[in-house]
Amino acid sequence: MWSFSNWRRRRTLARYPVAPEVWQRIRQRLPILDGLDDTQDQQLREACIFFLQAKHLTPLSGVELDDEQRLFLAAQAQLPLLNLGDLNWYQGFHEIVLYPDDFISPQRHRDASGIEHEWDGEHSGEAWQQGPVILAWPGVMASGDWDGYNLVIHELAHKLDMLNGDANGLPPLHGNMRVTEWARVMQSAYDGLNRQLDHDPDAETSIDPYAAEDPAEFFAVTSEYFFSAPDLLHSAYPEVYEQLKAFYRQDTLARLQALQQDNPAYKGHHHSHH
Ligand code: ZN
Repeated sequence: MWSFSNWRRRRTLARYPVAPEVWQRIRQRLPILDGLDDTQDQQLREACIFFLQAKHLTPLSGVELDDEQRLFLAAQAQLPLLNLGDLNWYQGFHEIVLYPDDFISPQRHRDASGIEHEWDGEHSGEAWQQGPVILAWPGVMASGDWDGYNLVIHELAHKLDMLNGDANGLPPLHGNMRVTEWARVMQSAYDGLNRQLDHDPDAETSIDPYAAEDPAEFFAVTSEYFFSAPDLLHSAYPEVYEQLKAFYRQDTLARLQALQQDNPAYKGHHHSHH
């Protein structure tokens, strides 16, 4: 059936093609996309094209941004939305500002005094609906592997969380999910992590202790793990994994395990954070 929006989609795809060899390089740079089937691969590539048309990427001085780098960012931004349908999940912003500073490193990311936290604060108020996403470029470049760190997914999870109000760890759930169940599972895992850190601030927690900061950070950090270390998340908090699986409508653990089964040498998480 002909429709204007379909026609416009086709026209956009034709106007901004992604060369197969460029997409191939993106796939190689992003192990967290390994195991997607051909349909998902094409869907993701097209979603990247629309994303880059809809969002303005603003590199500050010191950030070199070419088409391939833009695609590298877009592919990570679109992975969480892969099975979420045509809803405009990223309607809460239209700009991504890229900082050259390398002070948000995977290590500093856990630090409660890091800039990312300040940014969350700025946007938890009235500006949340129109505020840009701010990403430190070195953090973007460090993302994409199966290592429990993904700055792009972390920040965009905050945006999903903010779709129904302030960031509080509760994004708009699907009709087949229950808010009470989500709240029970998330709260109990969050409380457990906090108890562990109260007991010993230097405890070797199974996920990044930054998740204990507040419920919004718990959702953002566990979303990061869901897409970049699903095995760690599942073994630490299986019920949290199941809730995120229902929310994102993806089974990242099954995808990772299939890769490992096909190739026993396939890397899992690096566990470099602890
Ligand atoms: Zn955060």
